[in-house]
Amino acid sequence: QAVDSLPVPTKPTEVRELSIEFNQLLHSINQQAENDRQFVSNVSHELKTPIAGIRGHVELIQRHGKRDPKMVPDALAVIDRESLRMQRMIESLLNLSHASQLTIDRQPTDLVPLVAKVVGDYQRQIAQDIMLVADDSVRRRVNSATVEQIFLALLNNAGKYSPPTGIITVRVTNKEISVSDVGPGISNGDKARVFERFYRGSQTGANSTVKGTGLGLAIVKQLVALNRGDIQILDNQPTGSRFLMHFPTDS
Ligand code: ADP
Repeated sequence: QAVDSLPVPTKPTEVRELSIEFNQLLHSINQQAENDRQFVSNVSHELKTPIAGIRGHVELIQRHGKRDPKMVPDALAVIDRESLRMQRMIESLLNLSHASQLTIDRQPTDLVPLVAKVVGDYQRQIAQDIMLVADDSVRRRVNSATVEQIFLALLNNAGKYSPPTGIITVRVTNKEISVSDVGPGISNGDKARVFERFYRGSQTGANSTVKGTGLGLAIVKQLVALNRGDIQILDNQPTGSRFLMHFPTDS
C-alpha cells in the first residue's frame, strides 16, 4: 500500500490505534529478521559438521592411504555417509524454501483414495504394517499434492521411530484424520519443539541411532498451514504418538 494512500488519522484515538498497529508491524518485522538470522546460523552450523567429517577423512586418506590401504574403505564409508546426510539436508531445505513460496490451489477433494494411494505406495518401503481406517468418503478443500507430501513425511517418521513389528495406523474418517504409531512417543517438552526447523528429539531416546535432519516436521507444518489446516501431536495409547490433523471442509 502506498504511503500517501494510507488514511490520515484525524482523531486522537485513531492516532493511537495507528501507532499501536505500526509498533506491532515493526515488532513482527524485527521478529522475522531475528528468525532469519537464527535460521542462517543454524543451517551453517548443521552443514559444517558433515563437511568437517568429509574433509577430515579425505585428509586421512591423502596422508595414510598409500601406507595403510586398509583404512581407506572405512574412511570412504564416513565420507559416503556424511555426504548423503548433507544431500538429504539440502533436499529438505529446498523443500522448505519451496513450500514457503508456494501458493497452492485447493480443491474439494476426497481424502480417502488420495491417502489410500500414499499408504499403498509407502507400504512397500517399510517393514511395519500400515493399517488404513477409512470412511467411504472424507471431503476436504485441499491441495492434493501437498497432502500426499504431508502423509508421506508422517509415515516416514512413523517408520523411522517405531519398531519394525509395530503397526502404523492411518485414520481418514470424518471424525479423525491422523497417523499413529506404537514407537516411544514424544515427550511433552519435545511436542512443543519438534515442528521447529532442525530440532531433533532427545538424543538419548529413539534418535541415538535414527538418522535425520530435524526438517521433516517443519516442512509438514508449513504444508498443513498452506492448506489452512492444523496439526497437533497426541499420545497414542498405550504407547507411541498420534499426529492429528484438521483440514477445512470448505472456503
Ligand atoms: P528428523 O526425523 O529428521 O529428526 P523431523 O522434523 O521429522 O526430523 O522430526 C523431529 C523430531 O521429532 C525427531 O527428531 C524425533 O525426535 C521426533 N519425532 C518425529 N516423529 C516421531 C514419531 N513418529 N515418534 C517419535 N518421535 C518422533
